[in-house]
Amino acid sequence: MHILFSGDTFVAVVGAGLAGCECAWALAQSGVPVRLFEMKPKRFSPAHGDENLAELVCSNSLRSDEHTSAVGLLKLEMSELGSLVMDAARATRVPAGKALAVDRKLFARRITRRITDHSCVTLIRQEIQSLEDPLLEGAALTVIAAGPLAGESLAEDLRRVVGGEHLYFYDAIAPIVLADSVDMNTAFWGSRYNPEEMDYLNCPLDEAQYRRLHQGLCAARTVAARNFEKTVHFEACLPVETLAERGEMTLAFGPLKPVGLIDPRTGQQPFAVVQLRAENRDKTAFNLVGFQTKLAYPEQKLIFRLIPGLEQAEFLRLGSMHRNTYVNAPQVLTPELELRARPGVYLAGQITGVEGYVESAACGLWLGRFLAARILESALPLPPQETALGALLQHLCTPADNFQPSNINFGLMPGIRAKGGKAKRRLLYAERARQAFAEWLKRIPCH
Ligand SMILES: Cc1cc2nc3c(=O)[nH]c(=O)nc-3n(C[C@H](O)[C@H](O)[C@H](O)COP(=O)(O)OP(=O)(O)OC[C@H]3O[C@@H](n4cnc5c(N)ncnc54)[C@H](O)[C@@H]3O)c2cc1C
Repeated sequence: MHILFSGDTFVAVVGAGLAGCECAWALAQSGVPVRLFEMKPKRFSPAHGDENLAELVCSNSLRSDEHTSAVGLLKLEMSELGSLVMDAARATRVPAGKALAVDRKLFARRITRRITDHSCVTLIRQEIQSLEDPLLEGAALTVIAAGPLAGESLAEDLRRVVGGEHLYFYDAIAPIVLADSVDMNTAFWGSRYNPEEMDYLNCPLDEAQYRRLHQGLCAARTVAARNFEKTVHFEACLPVETLAERGEMTLAFGPLKPVGLIDPRTGQQPFAVVQLRAENRDKTAFNLVGFQTKLAYPEQKLIFRLIPGLEQAEFLRLGSMHRNTYVNAPQVLTPELELRARPGVYLAGQITGVEGYVESAACGLWLGRFLAARILESALPLPPQETALGALLQHLCTPADNFQPSNINFGLMPGIRAKGGKAKRRLLYAERARQAFAEWLKRIPCH
């Protein structure tokens, strides 16, 4: 659809974090005027503290820089699309082995300077209170990139627009394991009371194994909640270690209950069962049902590998629970990230349901490129799901019973089943992604 764009119209981008800066930059580089609204330094979220833009609020690492990792591939693709964040990251990197880590002050300063120096961007240091805020008047399009800690007033307004049940303030992520790393000599297929069904993989535990897992969960180190993070969780979504602390049998009567599941190797109902639910149609990745957790990352790997069948598990994503404002994207957004309930308003970054610095920036970059193409009357097709960017965007339009934010991982791409171990498989995913991205690039305008 053509967008009416005259001399004094502009695109409003709300939030000058990673997604907002990328989006504004991509638009501006195409000659589209942008008004970029940022509430800092008048107001800081509880995690922000630097008045520069694109602040990294926690770690200074943008994770793996290896081209055979999913996040490494995403970075490559972003660089090829002219990413401001990747350019700043490379210019301010600090030694960190195979990871791309940055000097956060220099990183934020460089992005701020490039944004403020751009003739097509006007940076306005004001908080946007709602989608009807008078400051947005005259905008041809609006992009909300206000992040996981969006200003409360705007977040409430968004909640009103999308419907209360489709905007969340907390996420509860269970770990995801690679299917090929589950020991199928131990795990068995079957849904409760239906051994024929292949929706779940079940890891059976005998009493001793269960007690060992329970002890591990009770003794493990958790990530301390930041002071602004409410430690109030919905009863239906408690961290697995909290359930474990309630009593030795709480898990066995809760998410690990064995009822209706018969281990075909013994013909018996196990003492307890950890169920794994398919993450994608190809069943290349599975999440651990009920294992949302605040355990520290190294502890998660140690403890979850105590589960029979997961001794050699390769974790595509570890569990977490933290404050996070995000929408049920498959329900409320079009594949182009436009609010179904409010045409002309788009979301970008973590608030869409992507997770992580790199993913948030990638989402903003994609949207900026997409909107610029629309404004300039050309079309930008979605990248194929075999690419890292395409897989990430596909996550946002794949309906799920319990939609949860996701970082980029190979489990979001169409599966490749290959013998030869983890390194070989990664290489195959990476080669396919590189090829698909190169072909897509040839088809897109003005590259
Ligand atoms: C506490 C915390 C720690 C995290 N740690 C990591 C980590 O270590 N590694 C990782 O990969 N990811 C991490 N994340 C997840 C996520 O990657 C980051 O939050 C990332 O910065 C999200 O990018 P974004 O652009 O969507 O939002 P942000 O980078 O948060 O940018 C949003 C911007 O919008 C501004 N804003 C908000 N509301 C308004 C408004 N109403 N009007 C105007 N401006 C507004 C904010 O001030 C901010 O500058 C963390 C998240 C949180 C909450």
